[in-house]
Amino acid sequence: MASSSTKIALSSSDSNNATTWQNFKRLVSYAKPYKLGFVAAILGMLGYAFIDVYFLSKLQPLLDEGLSGDNVDFMKWAPLFIISAFIIRGLAHFVANYCLSWVGNNVVADLRQKLFEHIMAMPVAFHDKQSTGALISKITFDTEQVLNSVSKSILVIVQQSAFVLGLVGLMFYYSWHLSLIFLLIIPVIAVIVTLVSKRFRKVSKNIQGAMGEVTTAAEQTFNGHKVVLTFGGQQREFDRFGKINKHNRQQRMKMMATKSASVPIIQVIASFALAFVFYAITSDTLRDTISQGTFVSVITYMVMLLRPLKMLTNVNAEFQQGMAACVSIFSILDHEKEKDNGDKKLARASGTLSFKHVDFSYVKSDTTQEVKLALSDLTFDLSPGETLALVGRSGSGKSTASSLLLRFYDATSGEILIDDTNIEQFELKDLRKQFSYVSQQVVLFNDTLSNNIAYGKPEATEAEIIAAAKSAHVMEFSVNMPQGLETNIGENGALLSGGQRQRVAIARALLCDAPFLILDEATSALDTESERHIQDALQTLQQNRTSIVIAHRLSTIESADKIIVMDQGKIVEQGTHQSLLAKQGAYAQLHSFQFE
Ligand code: ADP
Repeated sequence: MASSSTKIALSSSDSNNATTWQNFKRLVSYAKPYKLGFVAAILGMLGYAFIDVYFLSKLQPLLDEGLSGDNVDFMKWAPLFIISAFIIRGLAHFVANYCLSWVGNNVVADLRQKLFEHIMAMPVAFHDKQSTGALISKITFDTEQVLNSVSKSILVIVQQSAFVLGLVGLMFYYSWHLSLIFLLIIPVIAVIVTLVSKRFRKVSKNIQGAMGEVTTAAEQTFNGHKVVLTFGGQQREFDRFGKINKHNRQQRMKMMATKSASVPIIQVIASFALAFVFYAITSDTLRDTISQGTFVSVITYMVMLLRPLKMLTNVNAEFQQGMAACVSIFSILDHEKEKDNGDKKLARASGTLSFKHVDFSYVKSDTTQEVKLALSDLTFDLSPGETLALVGRSGSGKSTASSLLLRFYDATSGEILIDDTNIEQFELKDLRKQFSYVSQQVVLFNDTLSNNIAYGKPEATEAEIIAAAKSAHVMEFSVNMPQGLETNIGENGALLSGGQRQRVAIARALLCDAPFLILDEATSALDTESERHIQDALQTLQQNRTSIVIAHRLSTIESADKIIVMDQGKIVEQGTHQSLLAKQGAYAQLHSFQFE
């Protein structure tokens, strides 16, 4: 599990191989619809920096002309100038921050939506491998990280670079000798920044992974809350979470260590340059050519440069963090979606279904080794309205067969036909509309009973919902609920019992009224009252539908038109209940196990 999130990051995506610059360009392309806001933000940032530089450019005249009393006008206009400059500066600040955040929030909302839709459109095999927690962390944490880091970085880079350029310009304007000394340190700073950014990139990527691990661990434990309590696993879970939590903290501290060390190092180097300037000024030639005002101004500019240099160094960490999050998001977006190449429409199938020599393996074959087949040479035909029961030990491939029908996976070889057409030729949406699926693990949403019933047919009228609820014996218990069918049933239907949940699932399938039914029968024994209701409801559901029943208890399938006994993905016997009993083979054996 520890590697679950890196699994995604290491997947075969382009985004990992792309340079930071390419990823940044890709991110910026998401901002295209919000160009105007972006331009306004940049103008705001430049305006802000310009006012600051302009202010500082008045330092020398203030010292040499204003304060010395040589230029009376200068001092007269100063108060007015100060107020107007601060008003403009304030406006620029507002525009820069507001517009940047407007663009950033829009981009992140778009990215988050795209990511959500993309994850939902991924093949089932992708979801089999990924931990939900890591995916959730991408949608919540990584997108937020992009917003915070990248927009803050842009703000600092544009505003502070403009400020630095302005200051350096002023310095050169007043004394290029002194400025040159100061500028000698820039290559040294550049080398340090490059080294540090490499480390930032590495640590940021680890942080991304570590955050995914935290969510995964929490999500898994909360989901299995009852199991943890029952088996007294609290301490083990605390320890496991503690380890992951510690790893996350360590990664963050590494980041902080690099961040905290890089700024003072750069400032110390800058202080050398500053010290050298002080030393140089003592030489007579320089002292004669420079006024007091110029000297104080240039020194002030140099000191003023330290802060933006610090911010620009720090922004690197911020930016690398944002880009690491970006890579993590892009690596998902670059994953191929579920294939939907079929172009045939299918409004409502007549109900014939055949499997022709279907092989399937969960593992992609590479020629070097033989892969284990989950289904091997599965062949059968069903006419409209017939019921097929699949029986066999657990792991024999029964559920896999139904997954192939819904195209959660595609057959490795052979064909599955509906109405004599290979199911891969249909549009996925149309194909899946042909099936109602009632499984033993009923998934219910945190919504009202009636909305849960109408999940497959949101346009259903109230009368239709009530009719389905009646046929599936949901009414029997819903009348005792505070708001009847309009009662909210809690997260994953926490308020309902196992039998009640199944009845809701049956009502849902009834309302869908699809021509095929896949029924993964409950293994758990229900009380006789529930059992009778459910059997009743199921019979109603199977009427006029081609049904595939994954049977765990043989008592319920005696009337099936066909029974297929499977073992290790192969058909070992097929026939009707009577003919199979007469054969005295595998089915008869299973039967005698269950009834003796
Ligand atoms: P049944 O429904 O009869 O209990 P399944 O169809 O679930 O059997 O499983 C058939 C075989 O495929 C088993 O060996 C099982 O371990 C394997 N299998 C099932 N689901 C997956 C999956 N998502 N990934 C890899 N192997 C799987």
